[in-house]
Amino acid sequence: MADKIILTGIRPTGPLHIGHYCGALVNNVAIQNAGDYSRMYGMIADAQGLTDNFDDPEKVRRNVIEVALDMLSVGYDPEKTTLFIQSAVPELTELTFYYMNLVTVARLQRNPTVKGEIAQKEKFANGLPVGFLTYPISQAADITAFRANVVPAGDDQAPMIEQTNEIVHKFNSIYGDVLSPVKIVMPDSSLAARLPGTDGNAKMSKSLGNCIYLKDSADDIATRVKTMFTDPKHLRVEDPGNTTENPVFIYLSVFAKPEHFAAFLPEYKDYAELAAHYERGGLGDVKVKKFLNAVLQETLRPIRERREMLARDIPSVMEMLRVGTERARAVAAETVDAVKRAMKLNYFE
Ligand code: ATP
Ligand code: MG
Repeated sequence: MADKIILTGIRPTGPLHIGHYCGALVNNVAIQNAGDYSRMYGMIADAQGLTDNFDDPEKVRRNVIEVALDMLSVGYDPEKTTLFIQSAVPELTELTFYYMNLVTVARLQRNPTVKGEIAQKEKFANGLPVGFLTYPISQAADITAFRANVVPAGDDQAPMIEQTNEIVHKFNSIYGDVLSPVKIVMPDSSLAARLPGTDGNAKMSKSLGNCIYLKDSADDIATRVKTMFTDPKHLRVEDPGNTTENPVFIYLSVFAKPEHFAAFLPEYKDYAELAAHYERGGLGDVKVKKFLNAVLQETLRPIRERREMLARDIPSVMEMLRVGTERARAVAAETVDAVKRAMKLNYFE
């Protein structure tokens, strides 16, 4: 589809983890390399990251480069994808302000992802900043600024896309046909669309600290796997175990390939055989965790090695971001012009 425009986004609130990898990055890089689009963007959403980290600007700044390194090391290619920093495209803030008129407070409060995040954040217990509540509007600005019609993302982003389309329809019905609707593309496997945390929490998240990071050393990975939550009722090896609410098995179902079984656990042909044995009883957690560790080590080693190489030349990474941001800004400025013209804000034209 030649008129396909793709936007992907990551908040620089921490280095990226294996949830991002299977829920977003693998997909995004495959889409990038398939090449059937007219433009693809990769946004580092620092302004959005500040909505719940406004008291820690150093953290957001530091993670812009971390996230850029992560993206490059999993295969984002600046020749194919325009990588840019959100706050350096002020047109996005301008669009957000105009879209705010089109969304009610009640609608924002109903967004299930935002609702869940607010409930989880202790720092909002004494009051919710307007900036956080309204971040879905700023996401609508990001998407529409680049005329993106495809957003690949995990399932937590579905409510944002729905809100974006509501804004698009409302804008077009009041001011005329300027904005285009957008579609979310999620990973094929629902498990990959929301990988649970190492602690058993429903979502692995930088903000919850229950992650295995792409940049983790071999020792870090081994320690994190060793201390992972499993089935708390699976006490003795012979006990029957649960695999569906067990992050060790969920990770294996997402990451373990037939060649991993052949190399590290040849007694089992595939995931189904391993899971069946655990459920029946007679398979211990230590053995399964050892296998998961081997699978993750194999998967993450090449990424980490590329990352270490890229990290030796940070000025080049920054220059790549500067060039991408400049390109992105020119596109967003065209959209802002069209939006303001439609809203009759073009006094000096
Ligand atoms: P934060 O807690 O700061 O929001 P995050 O871990 O949710 O961080 P984001 O930058 O908000 O990360 O998400 C970037 C992309 O990664 C989105 O497409 C999101 O759907 C996807 N994603 C994030 N966490 C997971 C996960 N645990 N499993 C699958 N996909 C995920
Ligand atoms: Mg998030």
